[in-house]
Amino acid sequence: HHDYTHFDDVLRFWAKKRPDQTALDQDGRTTSYRDLDQNTRRIIALFADHGIGKGDRVAWLGKNSDLYCQLYMASARLGVVVAPVGWRLAPPEIGYILKDTGAKLVFAGEEFVDIAKRVALTLDTKPTVIGEMEARAAIAAQTPAEDYAKADPTDPVLQLYTSGTTGNPKGVMLSNANLFALRNPGNAANLPWNHYQPDDCMLAAMPCAHIGGTGLINIAIANGIRCRVEAEFNPLGVLEAIEQGATHMFIVPAALQMVVQHPRAAETDFSNMRYLLYGAAPMPLELLKEVVRTMPDTGVMQVYGMTETTGTVTHLPPDDHSIDGNERMRSAGKAVPGVEIEVRGSDGKAAPLGEIGEICVRSPTNMSGYWNLPEATTSTIDPDGWLHTGDAAIMDADGYVYIQDRIKDMIITGGENVYPAEVESAIYGHPAIAEVAVIGIPSEKWGEEVKACVVCKPGHELDPNDVIAYARERVAPFKTPKSVDVIAEMPRNPSGKILRRQLRAPYWEGQERQVS
Ligand code: ATP
Ligand code: MG
Repeated sequence: HHDYTHFDDVLRFWAKKRPDQTALDQDGRTTSYRDLDQNTRRIIALFADHGIGKGDRVAWLGKNSDLYCQLYMASARLGVVVAPVGWRLAPPEIGYILKDTGAKLVFAGEEFVDIAKRVALTLDTKPTVIGEMEARAAIAAQTPAEDYAKADPTDPVLQLYTSGTTGNPKGVMLSNANLFALRNPGNAANLPWNHYQPDDCMLAAMPCAHIGGTGLINIAIANGIRCRVEAEFNPLGVLEAIEQGATHMFIVPAALQMVVQHPRAAETDFSNMRYLLYGAAPMPLELLKEVVRTMPDTGVMQVYGMTETTGTVTHLPPDDHSIDGNERMRSAGKAVPGVEIEVRGSDGKAAPLGEIGEICVRSPTNMSGYWNLPEATTSTIDPDGWLHTGDAAIMDADGYVYIQDRIKDMIITGGENVYPAEVESAIYGHPAIAEVAVIGIPSEKWGEEVKACVVCKPGHELDPNDVIAYARERVAPFKTPKSVDVIAEMPRNPSGKILRRQLRAPYWEGQERQVS
C-alpha cells in the first residue's frame, strides 16, 4: 500500500505503477492512469492560460462526467477550488450557488451551456463559460504542465454545497488533508472495505455535486482502481453496471429502493458487488431488510456523515445486518477509526447513554469552514474542534448511534418530542404506501400536531384513517399522526432528501415555527 496523502503524488504514483489501468470509464470511453496524470497537468496549463491559480474558484455545472473528474483532480493537485453545482436545481438556485462561488471560470455540460451563460451575465465577476466539447478540445491542445507549485495539504481544493435540506445551501471547503485523512490507503489497514483489489470497480452514480457522489471519485483514484461514471442515476443502469463488474458503490435510500424494486432486480446477479454503502437520509427498516435479502453476498453497510465532515464519520458494518430482529439494523453504526463522536445534551455536556442529544464530531475530515460564512462556521465548529451536526441521536454502551432526526424537524406536541423519522419508518411498512414524510403542523390544542404525507403505490388506494390505524399499532399515541395528506409526489432535493420544510410551508403561512 502506498502512503500518499496528496492527489499530486497519487496521480504520479499510479501513472508509474499502473499506467494502462483504466481510471475513468464513462459509457466505454476510458481514461487510463497515464492519461489521467497527463490530462490533469494539461488542465493545469489551461487554468494558467485563463489566469487561474491557487485559491481561485472554478465551477462545474453538469451531470457526472469524466471531464468533471479530471477538473476535480487537476484542482486537487494545484489548489484551485472546484465547485460542482447540482444540475437538477432550479435556475434561481443554480444562480445562487454560481454567484456564491465567485468562480472565474464555469465549465458546463453541453445541455447546460445556455443556462450557465445566462446566469454568468447577471454576475459581477463575469465568469467565462466553457462548454464541455470546447473544454475537451482546449485541454487536448495543451502541453502537460511540469513546473507548478502543488497545493498545500490544507488548502481548499473542493467546494461542495450542502444539500439545502434545512435552508440555503452552504459552501463547504475541503482540502487534500480532509480527503485522505480517514482514507489513506496506507493507514486503512484494519477495515476490509477500505482494501481495494486492482480489478475493483467503483460505481459513481450519485450526483457529483454532493459528497456521496464526488467522494467515490476521489476514493477510486486514491486506490488506483476503475471508476465507472454514470451521468445520472437510473435503476436499470445500476443493475447493468453491477452485472458488468461494479464492485463498490454508494447510494441513497430512495435510489436503492428503485434498484431493488425494479423488475430486473429479480434476475440480476448481485454477487459481483462486494460492498454497497447506503446513507445520507434515514433508511426505513423494511426496505433495509429487502436490500439484504436481495443481495445476500454483498457487504451492505450504512454510513452517516455530512458534507461538513467529508462524508462518512460513522458506519454500520455488514456484520450488523443480520435480518432476524437485529436492533442494530436501526443504528447508523459507530465512529470510524480516527473519528470522535459525542452525543451532547442541551447543556453542551455528553448526554447519559441512551438519552437523546446532538451528535458532535471531531475528525480530521472536518471542513476548515464555510465559504464566506464566518458566523455559521464559528457556530458549527467550536474552538475545541467539535462540529455540531444538528442531528439528534442516542448512543448505546457500545458506541452505536441511533439517529433520531434533524433537531430542526423535531415535533413538539403536547410537550412530547416526536422525531419524524421514527414515525415514517413505522408507516413505511404499510402495503399501499410508496413514500412517507411526517411533519409538524400548528395546533391550538397541542402546539404542534403530527401529520403524515404519503404517496400511494401505483395501482393501490389509500384511506387516511387506515394509515392512522396502521401507525397507532406501531408507535405511541402521541406519535401517531392526527391527519394524513395523500400527495401525488414527494418533494425531494437532488440528494434524494425529503423537503419537509416545503411540505410544512402551506400550514405555517404567516406563522413562525419555533425550533429548539
Ligand atoms: P443542509 O445542511 O443544507 O440543510 P443537508 O444537511 O441535507 O443540507 P448534507 O451535508 O448533504 O446536507 O447531508 C447531511 C445530513 O444528512 C446529516 O446532517 C443528516 O441529517 C443526514 N444523514 C446523513 N447520513 C444519514 C444516515 N445514515 N441516516 C440518517 N440521516 C443521515
Ligand atoms: Mg446539513
